[in-house]
Amino acid sequence: MLTVDDVQVSYGGAVQALRGVSIEVPDGAVVAVLGSNGAGKTTLLRAISGTLRRQHGRIDAGRVRLDDRDIGGADPAAIVRLGVVHVPEGRRIFGRLTVDENLRAGGLGNKNRAAKAAARERVHDLFPVLEERRTQRGALLSGGEQQMLAIGRALMAAPKVLLLDEPSLGLAPKVIGQIGEVITEINRQGTSVLLIEQNATMALQVADRAYVLDVGKVSLDGEAAALARTDEVRHLYLGGA
Ligand code: ATP
Repeated sequence: MLTVDDVQVSYGGAVQALRGVSIEVPDGAVVAVLGSNGAGKTTLLRAISGTLRRQHGRIDAGRVRLDDRDIGGADPAAIVRLGVVHVPEGRRIFGRLTVDENLRAGGLGNKNRAAKAAARERVHDLFPVLEERRTQRGALLSGGEQQMLAIGRALMAAPKVLLLDEPSLGLAPKVIGQIGEVITEINRQGTSVLLIEQNATMALQVADRAYVLDVGKVSLDGEAAALARTDEVRHLYLGGA
């Protein structure tokens, strides 16, 4: 289980982006975090994956734990090795490398050959288009395919927990639906998922539980289906009346 316990984060010693956030991602679960721009969603993922420091951010208080191990502030590569892999917003694939090279880059820390071969097979089963396009440069893929490549690259590290930052961003509704189905399948295969989304419709469909972040604090949490029925979530995030 991944546990974030009363975590506070600031950037540059000034901007307080998280003001005491606690969330849990039980093994085998899909957990969604919703919230508007600037609520702190990306910051939460950075605090978990150890990538805050690159942004001049730091954890001021609280703990991040994977099972019983304290991973708060640890080195990002060590966190990947422990099985927590972050797919950042905006995909950040290597545009000048081929699809295959992108996938290989994701498997670099995975030293076990058999595990790597199994991970690649899993990625090709989930995303047949990546096998078809293996020699094409990343930059030539469509937005949806690039998102699939970013997720596929993360899966090459054989994660226990996948952290997804707004995978639906900028994609057509049909493609968002496909991404949602893939998340469900990845989870069914045994990987826990922490899904950050502004697209609450997709997120609440695939998630078991969800949290709403509001200016650096959790304002609501509960079972995803129940949250989708609350007035706050319907008005603010589902466009409902
Ligand atoms: P978005 O969907 O727009 O990415 P978000 O919910 O992911 O929003 P964060 O990006 O985590 O929110 O931002 C939370 C707060 O931290 C905001 O006030 C933002 O301006 C600030 N912030 C984020 N990154 C940095 C940074 N690198 N340096 C300084 N402040 C930052």
